[in-house]
Amino acid sequence: MIKIGLDAGHGLRTAGKQTPTGIKEWTLNDIVRDKVVYYLKGYDVSFVFTDNDEGNTDESLGSRVKKYIDVGVDVFVSIHHNALSGKWNQATGVEVFVDRNCTAEDMKLAEAIYKNLPAYTGLKGRGIKKENWYVINQNKIPAVLCEGGFMDSSIDYPVITSEKGQDGYARAIAQGLIEYLGLKKTTETNTQVPSSNAQVPSVNYLVKINTKELNVRAGAGTNYDVTTRVKQNEVYTIVEEKMNGTTKWGKLKSGSGWISLAYTVKINNTIESEYYPIPNYSGTSIVEALKTIGINSSKENRRKIAVKNGVYNYTGTAVQNNRLLSKLKAGKMKKI
Ligand SMILES: [Zn+2]
Repeated sequence: MIKIGLDAGHGLRTAGKQTPTGIKEWTLNDIVRDKVVYYLKGYDVSFVFTDNDEGNTDESLGSRVKKYIDVGVDVFVSIHHNALSGKWNQATGVEVFVDRNCTAEDMKLAEAIYKNLPAYTGLKGRGIKKENWYVINQNKIPAVLCEGGFMDSSIDYPVITSEKGQDGYARAIAQGLIEYLGLKKTTETNTQVPSSNAQVPSVNYLVKINTKELNVRAGAGTNYDVTTRVKQNEVYTIVEEKMNGTTKWGKLKSGSGWISLAYTVKINNTIESEYYPIPNYSGTSIVEALKTIGINSSKENRRKIAVKNGVYNYTGTAVQNNRLLSKLKAGKMKKI
């Protein structure tokens, strides 16, 4: 049986490596990894995962390489998402890396994956590139590292956080592996890797923890044992929901247990603007202008907005209010 090494890069607790909205790179990589496995159901293959399946530890790069070489996989694919600055930017595109001393087989594998990657994701193709990334820097086993779009790009973010975009990334990898390895179906029941449209059934969604610390419990209720804790701003995948009384509980994909969804916020794939919306208001009062967009216009709140927007020592003078009003009307007033 063919053995495929798959690697969701990094770990859930790896510093940095996240979208500006706080979704960790590992979470996105892991979703795509699971979808690759889904698309290769029905083929005579087995998988070796080199990252920590729950994301809890960031497996060292050395241990990832040792694992797939020791097991003797036939190919290795490391799944990543790119980042430029960590702040919203306009970088965009997908790319596949081979090491600088790549073998002809590395290149063949890269080409098989890359040829569908831009079209399937709908993102710009940045090409096949050479770089000595640690996890692919060996010449025993054909190995590539894929970058499926920029986490901090306002162009790529809606794609890489959408089911459709994630499916496209996974389909390009799965299709590339089928082609490169010459895989044949062993069962009739499964579908082909589709060339379009999402096929992966999914109830999964991402939530961000919205309280300092939250207990993870063995079941959907406070009467169950605490198995571990999660922390504020961490992002998790919920795979099942259950009501207990009036509280909705969500099961973590990691298998470590259930959390009360009352202490989480659901993450959707739209980028929340860092600026207040422009009010439909032609008057001269900042107080009235803020009211029209539903923002608390008390002096205390205006002072906070002023600090955030570089108007210091705010006391509510006409000059200060005019500066705030012109920023707001220009769509340049930062949210507090
Ligand atoms: Zn990465």
